[in-house]
Amino acid sequence: MPTYEYKCSACGHTFEAFQSITEEPVRVCPACGKTSVQRLISAGAGLLFKGSGFYITDYRSESYKKAAKKDGESPKSDSKSNSKAASSSSSS
Ligand SMILES: [Zn+2]
Repeated sequence: MPTYEYKCSACGHTFEAFQSITEEPVRVCPACGKTSVQRLISAGAGLLFKGSGFYITDYRSESYKKAAKKDGESPKSDSKSNSKAASSSSSS
């Protein structure tokens, strides 16, 4: 059985009442007795959480700057190694 919240616009008295859906809403204010009671929206009806949620910002990596440029790599010069032909005749 839902709980309805009423508010009297005449005296400002607010009260809750357990009523079924088929039951007629309360019109007479129990505080002042006037029929100026308005039924408020129940708590379980319109709860809208409009909060700033998570901002999914998928920022793409624009440019991968490859700073690792191997400029100091000197080409290997083929140094002609003069093979010293040490002719050593070994007489056995
Ligand atoms: Zn009232």
